[in-house]
Amino acid sequence: MASVGVLALQGDVREHVAVLQRIGVAAVEVRGVADLAGISGLVIPGGESTTMARLLVTGGLREPLTELLDGGLPVLGTCAGLIMLARRILDGRSDQWSLGLLDVEVRRNGFGRQVASFETVVEVTGIGPVAGAFIRAPQIVTVADGVTILATHDHGGGPTPVLVRQGHALGCAFHPELTGETRIHELFLSLV
Ligand code: GLN
Repeated sequence: MASVGVLALQGDVREHVAVLQRIGVAAVEVRGVADLAGISGLVIPGGESTTMARLLVTGGLREPLTELLDGGLPVLGTCAGLIMLARRILDGRSDQWSLGLLDVEVRRNGFGRQVASFETVVEVTGIGPVAGAFIRAPQIVTVADGVTILATHDHGGGPTPVLVRQGHALGCAFHPELTGETRIHELFLSLV
């Protein structure tokens, strides 16, 4: 298999690279346009979506990346990466843009600030229980037809989706890369 890129402008890049290496996949840190050549999938890590969106523009990556993703490049976004993939962002910056590959609305920091961070076990369709870290995690508040919900979590207030797929895009509200988990990445690689 060709290499998988990890968007490396900001965020927990190293942790994703480490998971990919653990499952035997060559990972390329994507910092500029040249790094996009030849990748067969892309991971957008957790971090800060407003910063990532800004750095994609200043680094000239927004357009080439949009083109690749619109052309069907498989993509996994975790946490801030999920925000980057969502069609609509609630509580974002007024100028915050996103790639819009997942027809969902996400609320930034939607699991509440007082419980800004927690770890829990999430039951994933086809995989089983997966340990996930939620760190100022986005909450998926609406899901359109065509989006498959692969896992939900109830943090009080009823279950909401935390792992969704639409076509070649996989969005994860939590961090599977911080808990020693590899199966979300393996699921992603099955799309690659
Ligand atoms: N709250 C962050 C954002 O809006 C995401 C947090 C994370 O990726 N751990 O981008």
